[in-house]
Amino acid sequence: MTKPGMPALAKRVTGLAGSATVEMSERVRQLQAAGRKILPLASGDPGLPTHPDIIAAAHRAMVDGLTHYGPAAGLPALRQAIAARLTERSGVAYGPPEVLVTPGGKFAVFAAMLSVLEAGDEVVLLDPCWVSYGPCVRLFGGVPVPVPTLDGMDVDRMAAAVTPRTRMIVVNSPVNPTGRVLGRDELAALLAIAERHDLWLLFDQVYADMVFAPATYCALQSLEGAKGRTLVADSLSKTYGMTGWRVGYLAAPEGAVKAALKAVQHSIYCVPPFIQAAAEAALKLPQSVVDGYAELFRRRRDRGVTGLNRVRGIRCACPPATFYLFPDIQGDDRAVASEWLDVLSIAALPGSAFGPAGAGHLRLSLACSDEVLEEALARLTAHYGRQE
Ligand code: PLP
Repeated sequence: MTKPGMPALAKRVTGLAGSATVEMSERVRQLQAAGRKILPLASGDPGLPTHPDIIAAAHRAMVDGLTHYGPAAGLPALRQAIAARLTERSGVAYGPPEVLVTPGGKFAVFAAMLSVLEAGDEVVLLDPCWVSYGPCVRLFGGVPVPVPTLDGMDVDRMAAAVTPRTRMIVVNSPVNPTGRVLGRDELAALLAIAERHDLWLLFDQVYADMVFAPATYCALQSLEGAKGRTLVADSLSKTYGMTGWRVGYLAAPEGAVKAALKAVQHSIYCVPPFIQAAAEAALKLPQSVVDGYAELFRRRRDRGVTGLNRVRGIRCACPPATFYLFPDIQGDDRAVASEWLDVLSIAALPGSAFGPAGAGHLRLSLACSDEVLEEALARLTAHYGRQE
């Protein structure tokens, strides 16, 4: 018997929660299209204009004919440049065979999980964490296991979360949404757990160039013995204001790169070669360019933290990295985020969208103009009053 309507969809996608960040962006766009002036403090896009050298490199590459399929793992020159950068930054030698160019850090995370997770595997997440880890784990039939780590890590609690089904721990530093930077001791404790139980470590370092005191930053793969079990996800999106270019990479043991490469060949094939040429140009920019972006966000962080701490009922810690603030708003974060949007026309994300440990907080993005930040602070002060 024929059935009317659409055939059934796969449960692995129908059961997924949408991305809170993408959904908020859509909502803001709709409100703006309807004529509402919204102060956008929800964006994960640093909003930096792409540097003209990067744009010129893409143009040149297109004119030169880099408009066809390219090598699936990435252009040799870009893989080389990425490996050199990783080596320089982590102090551990990386070679081009250990690098896979991906469409953004998101796909690097996706490819890493695709390559190592089996259905039923458990993946430990440091809660609160980026909204896509959990859904990505579920896409591959895995089970996310969030462990609360809002202000710090309880090593015993972390160790207790590991079961015989655990396959991976996802580590993100600096952390989205809190801006926290994981210390060497915390990373060493995670590595020790991974070694004891023979686990993969997925290390997401997409905000590594936005640490305000770079000497305090430690990359997981730089710890002795870590490289062989670490899958590094990184991206040019945040560092260079290249979110729309969709270019990032996975750096991993050669065997894992080869496994991920098969999936790339059968899906996206490759990142567009002219985009890769642009990425290579980005990596060649002087460090002062990247430092300038970080300085912009450091200044805005200082202004934001000071201003928020003057608002009654809000307490905001000063994050050492990223362009996010994660104030404690001492209430139901989803209700408060809705109130901010509906009453104050300020878009912010509820902290619980990043995991249960984020409840009671909002994630504010400083990827706005200074004027928008000032206006938002003024509206919040007028609405809640000044802190006594
Ligand atoms: N990892 C984290 C922690 C992020 O916050 C994001 C973006 O918001 C990504 C990865 C992926 O970014 P992209 O795919 O643009 O590189």
